[in-house]
Amino acid sequence: MDVYVEKAKCTGCEHCKDVCPVGVFEMKDINGPDVNTDSAPEQFQWKGVEDPATFAKWKDVQDGHNHYKEKSVAVNGSACILCQACLIECEGECIVITDDSSTVYHSVYK
Ligand code: SF4
Ligand code: SF4
Repeated sequence: MDVYVEKAKCTGCEHCKDVCPVGVFEMKDINGPDVNTDSAPEQFQWKGVEDPATFAKWKDVQDGHNHYKEKSVAVNGSACILCQACLIECEGECIVITDDSSTVYHSVYK
């Protein structure tokens, strides 16, 4: 399994880290050196600019999480068991999983 996060859309909500049973995700400071250490293609790496639509939707939401301080990084994508828990919890709809048959799954917030 390959897992990455489209960084500009990640709100930092930590839901993926909280629900993943196998520790695929870690939260990394947006200004830290390892914010782009998953397999996200170049266009989905963090470059310091938030996705405007996602930012407008979530910037003022108070749900106990520290939005926009950190980004989720799929540091352990090979451990993914495709339980799909993260795919329905991701505020930014920015998790992409590719299984061993090259089927691609995108997160859709429920
Ligand atoms: S689908 Fe994979 S990455 Fe997502 S929560 Fe389940 S095991 Fe973790
Ligand atoms: S659930 Fe989605 S938006 Fe929230 S931290 Fe994880 S990747 Fe980012």
